[in-house]
Amino acid sequence: MQLRLDTHMHTRRHSPDSDLDERQLVTQALRRGLNGVVITEHHFQWPEEELAELRRELVAPPGFVLLSGFEYSSRKGDILVYGLSHEWAQKYPPAREPEEMLRIYQEAGAVCIAAHPTRERIPFDDRILDMPFEGIEVESCNMAAHEQRLARKLAQGLQLPMTGSSDAHRIEDLGAYATAFEGPIETMADFVDCVRRGAFAPADRNLS
Ligand SMILES: [Zn+2]
Repeated sequence: MQLRLDTHMHTRRHSPDSDLDERQLVTQALRRGLNGVVITEHHFQWPEEELAELRRELVAPPGFVLLSGFEYSSRKGDILVYGLSHEWAQKYPPAREPEEMLRIYQEAGAVCIAAHPTRERIPFDDRILDMPFEGIEVESCNMAAHEQRLARKLAQGLQLPMTGSSDAHRIEDLGAYATAFEGPIETMADFVDCVRRGAFAPADRNLS
């Protein structure tokens, strides 16, 4: 079963730079043909109870995926972290070394995706060539066309699977890019398992 998910976005409830109203998440995701979303705030992961409350409030249809990881901003590059508890997101201040954080998170059981790795303003440096990410984000609203091409080359060179995700900070961008995952995915543990198996690829964009 293929699931089309947007796995990188910020809501205004927990990301100060975002204008995206979390109460519109499900409606917009369904409009864009998504089967779900994984919220990734800056240095914050939605606690399970709060996510459950949002699921109830938004009356998500059966099978709709609504999960949360977080985005860690290292000294060189941003890391999407999935599969840890809420507390982990605030455990380390920003701007630590990327390899160190990748090691810490993966040892704790997370899977990590390099967010917009070739983005001019906040790229990784060449250390990314030796960092064992589970995947590389190659498409996002925050990557220009040439940055997307570079990121694809990077992922191909490293033989790592790729993701497409919106990195939305406003509701209109949600689902502009997405990734197709080989499901079933109901829980974060399912999601982590799927990422570990490399069972995902950028979804096509032939949607309304
Ligand atoms: Zn982001």
